[in-house]
Amino acid sequence: MNKRKLVLSTENKHKVDEIKAILRDIDIEVVSRGELDIEDFHVVEDGETLEENSIKKARELAERCDYMVIADDTGLFVNALNGQPGIYSSRYAGEDGNDYNNCTKLLKNLEDQKDRSAYFKTVIALITENKKIYTLEGICKGSIETERKGSGGFGYDPVFKPEGYDHTFAELGESVKNKISHRAKALIELKESLKSILED
Ligand code: IMP
Repeated sequence: MNKRKLVLSTENKHKVDEIKAILRDIDIEVVSRGELDIEDFHVVEDGETLEENSIKKARELAERCDYMVIADDTGLFVNALNGQPGIYSSRYAGEDGNDYNNCTKLLKNLEDQKDRSAYFKTVIALITENKKIYTLEGICKGSIETERKGSGGFGYDPVFKPEGYDHTFAELGESVKNKISHRAKALIELKESLKSILED
């Protein structure tokens, strides 16, 4: 019998590899939407929460295929900034902002700020073949450094130091990050849900 397929909404290679690695020992075929030739997939992320945005992305993908699908949305929530950049993390420095500018703006807005606590949150929306929706989440607490440190990772990794560590995600590298990150935790939750869905 053919394995059930799980389609990922993302084409980000870094995320695709991480998801495939975590789900590798369950009996499911993980494919990215590019592998199914689902093109022109542009979802406007206009929800007010990570949950709304991830469900919206997963729904639009589920309408384009008959397989199980997942979509994720992540934000960095900084306590001294009332939770900003939050759902706007990717566009913090403007619509055509980039990782470097986003970090620069964050460091500037936290200048002279004593409370540098922050957390990353990832929400993964899973929609099954019969269109049942599940949401799974993972949180990684930490703090924002006063300058960039390290060259690995992406996004806010050079300025985010996870709780219990003396180095930023960018310094710690993928093997450590993939054990403790918000996304890794959400993926472990996803794996548990998939296991019980496959048993049903
Ligand atoms: P997305 O929802 O994964 O597209 O992420 C939204 C924003 O958060 C983007 O600016 C990403 O660069 C940033 N981001 C997401 N995950 C991480 C991470 O693991 N480390 C650092 N930045 C991240």
